[in-house]
Amino acid sequence: MRKTFIEMLTMSAFVNLVALAVPVFTLQVYDRVIFNAGLSTLQGLAIGVVLAVLFDYAIRQSRARIMQTVALRVDADVGKRLFDKVTSLPLLHLESQTSGYWQSIFRDVDLVRNTLSGAPAILIADLPFTIIFFVIILTIATPVVPVLIVIWALYLFIAWRSSSVMNAVSQDERAAAQRRDQLIAELINGRTTVKALGLERAMRPLWVNAAAENIERASLRGSKTDNYANIGGSLSMITTVGLTTVGAIAIINQELTMGALIAANMLSGRLLGPLNQLVGTWRVYSSFRDAVNRLGDIFTSESDRIDKEMEMKRPDGEIALQDVSFRYSEDAPNVVDGIRIGIRAGGMHALVGRNGCGKTTLIKLMQGLYKPTSGRVLLDGADVSQFSRRELAEWIGYVPQETVLFAGSVRDNIAYGAPGASDEQVIEAATAAGVHKFIIDLPDGYASEIGEAGRLLSGGQRQRIAIARALVGNPSVLLLDEPSGNLDRQAEEELRETLRALAKDHTVILVTHSPVLLQGCDNLIALDKGKIALAGPAKDILPRLMGGGRPRPAQPAAAEPSPAGKG
Ligand code: ADP
Repeated sequence: MRKTFIEMLTMSAFVNLVALAVPVFTLQVYDRVIFNAGLSTLQGLAIGVVLAVLFDYAIRQSRARIMQTVALRVDADVGKRLFDKVTSLPLLHLESQTSGYWQSIFRDVDLVRNTLSGAPAILIADLPFTIIFFVIILTIATPVVPVLIVIWALYLFIAWRSSSVMNAVSQDERAAAQRRDQLIAELINGRTTVKALGLERAMRPLWVNAAAENIERASLRGSKTDNYANIGGSLSMITTVGLTTVGAIAIINQELTMGALIAANMLSGRLLGPLNQLVGTWRVYSSFRDAVNRLGDIFTSESDRIDKEMEMKRPDGEIALQDVSFRYSEDAPNVVDGIRIGIRAGGMHALVGRNGCGKTTLIKLMQGLYKPTSGRVLLDGADVSQFSRRELAEWIGYVPQETVLFAGSVRDNIAYGAPGASDEQVIEAATAAGVHKFIIDLPDGYASEIGEAGRLLSGGQRQRIAIARALVGNPSVLLLDEPSGNLDRQAEEELRETLRALAKDHTVILVTHSPVLLQGCDNLIALDKGKIALAGPAKDILPRLMGGGRPRPAQPAAAEPSPAGKG
């Protein structure tokens, strides 16, 4: 936006030049008109100054319009790019920060917009032109200049002091506000649980603390701001008194005219006004700088692959993991530990194991949501890290453990899985997920609104819509994480038949503990603490799992790529 800002700077130059009109008018009226009773001069001066004021109004208006285009462009460009950037960040990065943090990142765009397109930007543009006022005072009222220099230095000192103090308190305030907002967001999201279990008693002290901390920081910041603003106000009064006193002595000594002193007083307002405002606005600049830094960090951090390297046809759906290990952070233990397995295209494969043994993590690794710490994940023999997120999402359907739907119609929610999906595709997916009959039974059918996060539906209905959403683009691989958690037995049986039918030409991999679903599986992979404990055809493994309780340690054969695979 450099060009726009240069335009703005040019406008500001005119505004500041025209600002000279009034002091010059005053000087002339006092020194020429009054003493010489020059009414015709007064007439000329008045007409001139009125024209100047009109011109000043016109330029200010166009400067305001330019600033509005800045605001629009920041909103449109930066806002859109931030959305694209945030949604393309790797999942691990997104999960590493709280939701409060991500919300505040979007608020940073507002802060940048308001600073660049509002009074703070105009103030910065005005600052260099204060030199004009200084030069003019120097010319017309030299004796008062030392006063101005002293005051000017004092202002600079205060602005500098306030900047360092305000930086620290503003950051504290922001962090406190973020903690409070985070708590509110959690409370609201979990309102049903909070209400049902009476958690408000436990949460109240947390809220009181967060709110108190927030108020404390805000009032500390407020008192610091007020303090500096008041010092600025006092300095401006001192300026008038100092100028008038020194000026009066100069007038008595006949070194200065009355008009020049009055004009110098007016000009000093123009010279020191921006500095005074600077003291008050400093906090805005430091928040602006922090916001720009935070946005910069986001924009420079690594994204998932966005562009396709080359056009690839839809894969068959063969998945291989080659010595895949993964840990959530440098110093954490491996959650997935040296997994080596091949899963042929087609068929229904189950991942089983105790809570926390790494099944969900493994499912996320399979679809490239996490990058393995070591090892590779192959789809049809090709390393998935070469594919863009969009391609992978198109080829690999995913039904997460916790169903997340969005406000909108049933149709919209299913079609989110493949933007631009036809009605036919949506109905086909809904039928396959066993939810079509339920949907057409609703008063508005596919157009029914499901409420915020699908609240108007039951858990089982939400889950089936999530399954339909995963199916809609006809992916080659279908990953389901505990898909029957909310389903009744009959629905489970229906889902098993649906998945069996899909397994003819899709690779279906599911995490499940449901005996009904396990019965439909061709192969089973049992995990224990991130390692494969057992793997092979379900008919061999299932009796051992059911009978033996906890999976036994890995057998040599299970570690080979093939047991659940090619065979
Ligand atoms: P499962 O699906 O088998 O119950 P998960 O794959 O969800 O297990 O989790 C395996 C382990 O990884 C657990 O010990 C859990 O605490 C840890 N874990 C899961 N997600 C994260 C995360 N986002 N950050 C850090 N640790 C995680």
